[in-house]
Amino acid sequence: MTSRVAVIGGGIAGLTAAHRLMTLDPSVDVEVHEASGRVGGNIKTSPFAGRPIDEAADAFLTRVPWALELCAELGLADQLVHPSGLPAGIYASGAIHDLPTPHVMGVPVDPAALARSPLVGDDAVAALMADAEARSPVVDPADSLGALLRARLGDELTERIVEPLLHGVYAAPVDQLSLATVTPQFADAARAPSFTRALADAAAASHETATPIFAAPRGGMQELTDALAHRLGPRIRFASPVERLTVASSGVEVVGPDDTSVFDAVIIATPTHVTGGLLGASPAASAFALDPVSVAFVTVAFDPDTIGVPLDRSGFLVPAAAGHTVTACSWTSVKWPHLAEGSVVVRAAVGRADDDAIVAADDQTIRTTVVDDLREMMHITGSPEEVRISRWPKSFPRYRPGHLDRLAAVTAELADTRIAVAGAATAGIGIPTCIHGADIAARRIAAMV
Ligand SMILES: Cc1cc2nc3c(=O)[nH]c(=O)nc-3n(C[C@H](O)[C@H](O)[C@H](O)COP(=O)(O)OP(=O)(O)OC[C@H]3O[C@@H](n4cnc5c(N)ncnc54)[C@H](O)[C@@H]3O)c2cc1C
Repeated sequence: MTSRVAVIGGGIAGLTAAHRLMTLDPSVDVEVHEASGRVGGNIKTSPFAGRPIDEAADAFLTRVPWALELCAELGLADQLVHPSGLPAGIYASGAIHDLPTPHVMGVPVDPAALARSPLVGDDAVAALMADAEARSPVVDPADSLGALLRARLGDELTERIVEPLLHGVYAAPVDQLSLATVTPQFADAARAPSFTRALADAAAASHETATPIFAAPRGGMQELTDALAHRLGPRIRFASPVERLTVASSGVEVVGPDDTSVFDAVIIATPTHVTGGLLGASPAASAFALDPVSVAFVTVAFDPDTIGVPLDRSGFLVPAAAGHTVTACSWTSVKWPHLAEGSVVVRAAVGRADDDAIVAADDQTIRTTVVDDLREMMHITGSPEEVRISRWPKSFPRYRPGHLDRLAAVTAELADTRIAVAGAATAGIGIPTCIHGADIAARRIAAMV
């Protein structure tokens, strides 16, 4: 008899899981239940200022193989493009400054170079020197990312340079994030007598600088989810929100607003707060109470002649202490050479943990706030030619310390069931990580049905 598997959620994780199930065993009847009218979830590309500009994720890491391999499998390998490689700056005291180099994910590793930066004072340089000389306290890798950074680098360096960069990736304060989950390479280095020397050595050994570390399909990230959706075709059910799962003797009941279907197995690939709800009263559900942060991306096109700062970076980060609403700004048409033709396109991020008022505000308020911020920080004299607002509510899970242990408990709890969990709710937000987790979930379920 044909086995039936439901995949809940049509983001990159759900689509990958369904695709993998289909390729592993074409006889399995796979059905993707997507609540909305489109697939892609947090991946969405749309035309803006005459170019395909991503509304959220705009690239994936190539340092790990999973997204690259999926692109190759889908025939997208020869369409991948890479960012220009220009560095990001940091906004402070009314100007955009260079990040002190060399650095590893924002962590400066050379005290002499840091001493030349106007971003921090002598105390920060002394703290970095102490770490370089292995005089700083070693932090338990099970602790928070903030605990590590503050112990090894001091508060000033953490808050003025490292946190703004990491906020651009995780949208949450470093003190709330699990070191082991979000920055495993930092967790490894945390055990070393000098954190920063260990980081620099690991970066040199991995030759990170030798190849572009990010890639994206030329037409935007949605080409990836569209390619998956194309392969899945009628197996995707749109406007099909799943409200509840019930384990019955006949299989797993998938309950929607209008109907209930029984499947032999289910892969849950929904946003973290939905995943927790679908697991119901199970102890596993508590692992997904990740209190996700809401953000919005505001994309703006300007006439280049109206911009008063040199466009010689990929964008800039804004520390919380700078007192602006914008948290980071990507100069998209500079960052991506294939998008350079025409007006200058920038993408500004707003929304901080525990302060989503700006994300919830009306369009006019967001627009005015962001454009005023950009005008001041980039010395812009003219008005925007085009503005687009993309809200991403509850999109950045806060992986708190202990997350990986709780996740391991979930995996153990679900091991005897025909339910698997994938996506950003699990091992991390990065697109390659979501793809990898979906692949693992699909292989486990394929072996059971
Ligand atoms: C603004 C922003 C920028 C980002 N930038 C990057 C980047 O540059 N690089 C990178 O690697 N990562 C980036 N990320 C992270 C990355 O995009 C996400 O972690 C990833 O896309 C999550 O995929 P997912 O499939 O787990 O979940 P989602 O994309 O959230 O997909 C979940 C799907 O489930 C559906 N769903 C919800 N509830 C139900 C239900 N009850 N029943 C059925 N379906 C349901 C949703 O509609 C959605 O389609 C970014 C994220 C955001 C928000």
